[in-house]
Amino acid sequence: MYKQIPLSFPSFNGNESLYTRQAIDSGHLATYGAFIGKFERKLNTKLRTHESVVLNSGTSALHLAMVLMGIGPGDEVICQSFTFCASANPIVYLGAKPVFVDSESDTWNISPELLEDAILNRISNGKKPKAIVVVHLFGMPAKMNEILEISRKYNIPVLEDAAEAVGSVYEGEMCGTFGQIGVYSFNGNKIITTGGGGALISDDTNILQKARHLSTQAREDLPYYQHLEIGYNYKMNNLAAAVGLAQLEKLENQVKSRRAVNARYRELFKDIPGISFHTEPDSSQSNYWLTAILINSEILGFDAACLQKSLSRHGIESRYLWKPLHMQPVFADAQFYGGKTAQNLFENGLCLPSSADLKLEDQERILAVIKKELAKSFK
Ligand SMILES: *Cc1c(COP(=O)(O)O)cnc(C)c1O
Repeated sequence: MYKQIPLSFPSFNGNESLYTRQAIDSGHLATYGAFIGKFERKLNTKLRTHESVVLNSGTSALHLAMVLMGIGPGDEVICQSFTFCASANPIVYLGAKPVFVDSESDTWNISPELLEDAILNRISNGKKPKAIVVVHLFGMPAKMNEILEISRKYNIPVLEDAAEAVGSVYEGEMCGTFGQIGVYSFNGNKIITTGGGGALISDDTNILQKARHLSTQAREDLPYYQHLEIGYNYKMNNLAAAVGLAQLEKLENQVKSRRAVNARYRELFKDIPGISFHTEPDSSQSNYWLTAILINSEILGFDAACLQKSLSRHGIESRYLWKPLHMQPVFADAQFYGGKTAQNLFENGLCLPSSADLKLEDQERILAVIKKELAKSFK
């Protein structure tokens, strides 16, 4: 039997047990309790220029962000196509329509050129998009300078889906702090986790205040329950925040370890033509939450699907890249601007095991499986 190598495993080797015990002993497990504020303040020190409201998922953070951006029925919202469905689903919750845009081949994130084409075309069709959803996929920073320039030029705000990019840095600033609103996810498989959780990030105190209010059922500050508007039950609970605080204390280590895993893959695969990686924009650092590779089947003689199966037979978990949203049956009616970049990434890409504690010997086992496939192709 092979030792199983999971895709991504969280590490709970810090203060997680201590803090959850303290949260339980305090009697506060719900949306009132000391760890919520502690987790937010810790996150704010990392964000420096911005502040956060911690919520119960990345999806609810995206939904709330779109509510606060005033997105409503009939609006159009531009969204990177190459992403997880949660980037676009809240557009539909609000009765608005997603307009999908293809990726560029270096960062795999939204192409600034295609973004501008899409905006111009939508405007000439009589409707200016209400917002632009940019995603830092797999933790890789998108080209924010170019994207923000377009955002300013057409006066369309950016919603930054940094769900996968906690700890990623673009030109010295944390991913999540570039858009009008940014969003993190702390779901179970992300680089730091609270079980389920998320955060909404902004430098606008008005937005932060409204987010706090709407996330707690829009309850007015009165001795009885009074509501002037429709709210949501989106606040993070104290138990999750206790785990989050402990996780956040180790963020720099997590990023360092995952970057080391990525660097070792690059080194191990450097003599295998036909395997390639995506590239960081200048003066930026991906958290390399997941290491992803592209497989050129013409050069290698096997494709991503074949490698995925072969790795699986050896007890190694790998995963397809996100299937672009414009290719999803549920979004078949949505507009799409672009070509086949995201589609090609989906068809030829694979995420490899990327846990922070992954050992060199585990990675060498993955290399051995690839070499075995190569030997079969060129027998
Ligand atoms: C995980 C993820 C989300 C959603 O976060 P949840 O906390 O799972 O709701 C949104 N966008 C992207 C790109 C994600 O990877």
